[in-house]
Amino acid sequence: MIEITALRKSFGSLEVLRNINFSVEPGGVVALIGPSGSGKSTLLRCINLLVIPDDGAIRVGRTAFSFGQGASVPKTRVLADFRARTGMVFQNFNLFGHLSVLQNVMEAPVQVKKMPKDKARALALKQLEKVGLADRADQMPHTLSGGQKQRVAIARALAMEPEVMLFDEATSALDPELVGEVLNTMKQLAREGMTMVIVTHEIAFAREVADRVVFMRDGIVAEEGPARQVIDSPREEATRTFLAHFH
Ligand code: ATP
Ligand code: MG
Repeated sequence: MIEITALRKSFGSLEVLRNINFSVEPGGVVALIGPSGSGKSTLLRCINLLVIPDDGAIRVGRTAFSFGQGASVPKTRVLADFRARTGMVFQNFNLFGHLSVLQNVMEAPVQVKKMPKDKARALALKQLEKVGLADRADQMPHTLSGGQKQRVAIARALAMEPEVMLFDEATSALDPELVGEVLNTMKQLAREGMTMVIVTHEIAFAREVADRVVFMRDGIVAEEGPARQVIDSPREEATRTFLAHFH
């Protein structure tokens, strides 16, 4: 479902991604772990083209892009279309503060897909139901807890009926007692067969929910394999050192 080939990205003279290769099967769940600054967020942003790679190729479903010499930069319209099909959830929710919960979830289907409002409302309510927040539809975001806000953000991404979901430290900004409800929502999505890439520091969650773990270090994939193998018996010294921080 996702295929990343020879991906490179620099910011000025800083090489942040240096020849990244990996793929995710349809319905697969990959946890992306690694030290701060190793390039996890940049890689995730490249997958939905929030960051345009310098070189390499990206395929999501049937849509493929190449970058680098001879390749043209995708047009704004093409990028918007593509981003709509790759749902992204950030650490800080990024809900629209002036819109109700329901309006937040309806916004993209109406604005981007030009969906009629009644249809978008029904779809939004369905997604809110899925994350357990249908009864909060008319509330404003500032009246919700962090965990509820993040579940609204997930419902909002789902409302675009994405082919894949990308999570960048979706629970890092939450108080510890609110982490579980968001992880449970993600777990449920995984069970339903959503293809997901999850950047996380929740190693126990990665071990339980992900099929595969990708360990990044200094802009490369330093180790990759079945989740339990990488987490319980890492092959690389760097992976062992990193994981030791979590015991
Ligand atoms: P963290 O765990 O702290 O979130 P990360 O693995 O997600 O780290 P990235 O955010 O991908 O790391 O950053 C990788 C490197 O690229 C860092 O050195 C960062 O400062 C740099 N970087 C990221 N985005 C930009 C940008 N837009 N302009 C310049 N440098 C950037
Ligand atoms: Mg990051």
